[in-house]
Parts: sequence; structure tokens; C-alpha cells
Amino acid sequence: MQVLSVTPEIFPLIKTGGLADVTGALPIALAAKGVIMRTLIPGFPSVMAAIKKKKPVLQYPLLQGGKASVQAVRLAGLDLFVLDAPHLYDRPGGPYGNPSGADWPDNWRRFAALSQVGGDIAGGAIARYQPDIVHAHDWQSAMTLAYMRYGRAVAVPSMMTVHNLAFQGQFGAGIFGELELPAAAMALDGVEYYGGVGFLKAGLQAAWAITTVSPTYAQEIRSPEFGMGLDGLINMRSNDLHGIVNGIDTDIWNPETDKHLVSGFTAATLEARAPNRAAVEERFNLDRDESPIVCVVSRLTWQKGMDILATVVDGIVGSGVRLAVLGAGDAGLEGSLLAAAARHRGRIGVVVGYDEGLSHIMQGGCDAIVIPSRFEPCGLTQLYGLRYGCVPVVARTGGLADTVIDANEAALSAGVATGFHFAPNNAGALLHAMRRLVDAYNAPTVWQALQRQGMRAEVSWDKSAEKYIELYRSLLSRRVS
Ligand code: ADP
Repeated sequence: MQVLSVTPEIFPLIKTGGLADVTGALPIALAAKGVIMRTLIPGFPSVMAAIKKKKPVLQYPLLQGGKASVQAVRLAGLDLFVLDAPHLYDRPGGPYGNPSGADWPDNWRRFAALSQVGGDIAGGAIARYQPDIVHAHDWQSAMTLAYMRYGRAVAVPSMMTVHNLAFQGQFGAGIFGELELPAAAMALDGVEYYGGVGFLKAGLQAAWAITTVSPTYAQEIRSPEFGMGLDGLINMRSNDLHGIVNGIDTDIWNPETDKHLVSGFTAATLEARAPNRAAVEERFNLDRDESPIVCVVSRLTWQKGMDILATVVDGIVGSGVRLAVLGAGDAGLEGSLLAAAARHRGRIGVVVGYDEGLSHIMQGGCDAIVIPSRFEPCGLTQLYGLRYGCVPVVARTGGLADTVIDANEAALSAGVATGFHFAPNNAGALLHAMRRLVDAYNAPTVWQALQRQGMRAEVSWDKSAEKYIELYRSLLSRRVS
């Protein structure tokens, strides 16, 4: 089975969030089960820099305003088609915005181009390569499925995975003329969305199957609260909607062999976490004592509930924990967390920025990780936490609810608890969860049981890769019949 994955991000080449971890890990998990996944990505500077020898397999004299080509390369163990289009992607800053963080005004063009090429490849544009299935991720590649539907690949089964419904790629109707789609596509059951053009909406409409990254989120997005304007369409397509929880790359995230750690450890050698803990204390200027260190590794945004955390930091410190925060995002939230750190020297440390290595040390050295997301399609940091004995404290929503088992009396006595849930998601409930955490931490046998049970939890891609394959197979059988 040959699957073409189309995505704006893939770890380790280009990453802003969990999407990259998923698109980077899935091909490897699938390969182990005999499914070949090739991935089409934009030729961002970091990607082009990694290509030693260009090998064009498709050329465009003119693609959305400039010359472009598709390079077939193998990088970091991944089979890639890289869309080399300097007029669209050779820019400073992140994948979506300029160095000061503002979105590029022509993002619609940049990702329509990616999708157009995805549609072309699906339709057989590359010699000796015909994918059996096309799998698109998020709004940036969602239009691939529209280009397939209105082009030459209408018979190729397609899957749309929603990693976060909050990002929809919604643009004015004025761009439609430049998308090179037939006029009929500008319709209610096509790409039209609230009078404009909706990229994710178009993908959801055209996809043979829709998946999202946890069963609970798959249910939640059917409600107006989580559906963000798309709940009507999602309900209409509910027969084709599936929730498959993300796994993690258990080779990269292996506490025994992780090169980022000061000291490797296993569930049998939890005491070997101590040097990592000391490294966290040092890096975050925390007091050296025996109180638990709770960490945050997150985008600092409203979705992640960082404003809720910011309002309750004084109470958290009062409950006896130390807080280590690594994150970047909203300037206001960065500022209020830095102010909290200044107010509580030794009890709160904040590093503003993105630091992959430090995130590993935190998971391997802190006692717990708090994730107060307002909504969380899946979430990965709680899975890293489980694997590293860093007990997750999570808002009971989306994938957080699906992957962490609350340490209530029943779960504790059954020996299955792996963390703490809180609901509703507000300051009072978060603080209450912190107090529960401190109580458990002060009972070492309970605490170590939580850590060990978490470390035993199934967080690899194995089962989820099977589920994707099952779905791919069911789509293929629909094609035949
Ligand atoms: P999202 O994709 O919504 O940001 P996820 O939990 O799915 O949330 O994935 C976030 C990913 O980004 C994880 O791999 C996490 O470790 C990483 N991450 C987030 N913020 C930082 C940061 N400041 N430094 C290092 N890694 C980070």
C-alpha cells in the first residue's frame, strides 16, 4: 500500500507543534507494518538546506506566481517530495509568519500551491508513482482533497486528519479566481465557507474519511462549543469521522537512551532521575529542596489555558510546589509568567523560548507536568510525561482525558492510575489538583506507583498505526466496490 501524506510540517525538519511529531513518526510506524508513506512538504529554508543533491521529479514553469519543482529525497529516514518554490517558501521566520510572528498575507497562495501539487501527484503527475491513498493534515494541505475532487484524482481515496480545528485557513472570496479550480467548486458543498473560501472546510467536505487525533475530541467537535463553526458539517459527516489517538516516537523519547538527559533511567531506577532534576533546578534558578517540581512545556496561549495558570500561580506556589515553565507565545502571557517568576524567586522559573533539548530534560527531571488546555485534540506532552515518569496533571478534555487515568480511589487501588484530571477547567479546580498532587507526592509508595504505571502505559504508535491501516484498507475496499 502506497500512501501520500501531505503536510506543512514534519519532524525533525520543520516543526512548530505536535503535527510535526505525528507526520514524522507515522511513516516510520507504518513502514514497520508494510505500508509505504511518502510525504509532500514545502521547501522551507531548513528543508532545502538539508538537501544535498536535487533530483527533480516534477517541474512547474509557473506555480502560483513563480517557477517550482518537486524534489524526491530521503532525509532523516523519511521519503519526501519537497516542493521547491522559492517565491513561496524561501523566507525568513517560521513556516507561517515573518520573523516578528505576523502571518504572511499570501499564506493562502503558499498552501494552495502545496495542495495543487498534492492533487497533481495524486492524479499521477510523477512517473512511476501512483499513491493508493492520499492523507492530508490540517488546513495547510486540506485543499489537496479539493484539487483531487475537482481534478483528475476523484477516484483516489482520501483522508483528512484534523490536528486542531481552531486553525481553519479561512480567506476572502476574492482569492477563489486564483485557485485554479472550476467555478462549480465555489459552492456550499465545495470550498465556499461563510461567503469566503475555507481550506479546512473544503478538505472536510471532499475527504472520503475524516480523522482527528483522539476519540474524545472526535466527539467534542460535534458540539458548537468545540466545533468552531464546522460542527454542522462534521455532524453531517459523522459516519466517516474517526478518532485515533496519537502515539509518540519511543526511540526518540526513550528515558533509558535519551542523549538530551543528564542521566538515563528506567521504571526500575527512578532514583536516576535525580541528576536531571538538579539540572532543571539549575537552569530555572529553583531552590534546592525536596518539594515537587511541576513543569509546563507549551505554547503560551489561551487554548493551552496558560492564562488560567497565570492567575493561579501564587496559589500553586502556596500549595508547596515549584514551577518550571518553558514556552513561548502570547507576549502578555510571557510577561505575566516572567513577573510571577520575579515575585517568587526560587519557586517559579520561566524560560521563554523553544528548546527541544531542555524539554527532554524537564520531562526526565520534573516530578509532574501540568496541562490546563481549554481544548486539546490529543496533546503529546502528557504522553512524554507518562513515558518519563513525569506525572501528568491534565484538564479533562480531548486526548488528555483519553490518555491519562485519574488517580481516584478506584484507579489507585486497581493499580491503573497514571495522573490527575481536573474539571471544570478553572483556577479553583487546577489548584485543587495541585493539592491532590502534593498529597500523593508526600506518600512515596503512591507516587512511585503512579510514575511506574505511567511508564508502562502504551504510548507508542503501534496500536494507532494499526488503526490507520485498518481505515486505509476500508477506504481501498470502497474504491474497488
Ligand atoms: P500543540 O501541537 O498544540 O502545540 P502538542 O502537545 O500536541 O501541542 O505538541 C507540542 C509539541 O511541541 C511537543 O512535542 C512539545 O514538547 C513541543 N513544545 C511545545 N512548546 C515547546 C517549547 N517551548 N520548547 C520545546 N518544545 C516545545
